[in-house]
Amino acid sequence: MSKDLFDQALDAAKAYHAALPAVAEFQPWPDDITWAAREGNQIPGAVLVQSDPGFAAEGIPAEEEVRALQQAIMALAPHAQWRLTYTEEEVGRDFLQRFGWFELVGPTGHFHSLQTRMTIGYWGPDLDYPWHQHGPEELYTILSGSADFMAKGEEVRRLVPGDTKMHGANQPHAMITNEHPILCFVFWRGEGLADDPAMSPG
Ligand code: ZN
Repeated sequence: MSKDLFDQALDAAKAYHAALPAVAEFQPWPDDITWAAREGNQIPGAVLVQSDPGFAAEGIPAEEEVRALQQAIMALAPHAQWRLTYTEEEVGRDFLQRFGWFELVGPTGHFHSLQTRMTIGYWGPDLDYPWHQHGPEELYTILSGSADFMAKGEEVRRLVPGDTKMHGANQPHAMITNEHPILCFVFWRGEGLADDPAMSPG
């Protein structure tokens, strides 16, 4: 039954939160989590994540916790409520065929919480995620694969499993995948946790 898979993923996320100092420092583990019984929603990207999630963590701190969460998310993928949010005008047709995200914990997540938003995002190889922004502060963490991350006022950084990167409130950011796909676990904090990101102006 898929509720068990969600419980296992939540346990793996909690262990991951405790094991990565940047994650534990970003926000405390929420104390208001309840099961929301959301229906699954399959999209093309959800199929790709199961066949090609990107290379796994190896030889890094907290490798065990990173791998365990990656495996728990893979097991959930067929049952998750995947979303696209962006339009073809904003990101292009190919992007929408090879991208997807879902909310594990948060105001609209499989588990309800008003203290955080924890989402999973997947991008296939050679995708250009255009400049966008949002009110809540954000911590990207990488479960598998790799990509080049950009943020206004910062150098480009290639992130690999176990890496983390913070984005400030309304700080424009973008991302380009290379020859690898990428699977990310993303934390939000602050006001507007249920909001969608917006494309950055011009
Ligand atoms: Zn963001």
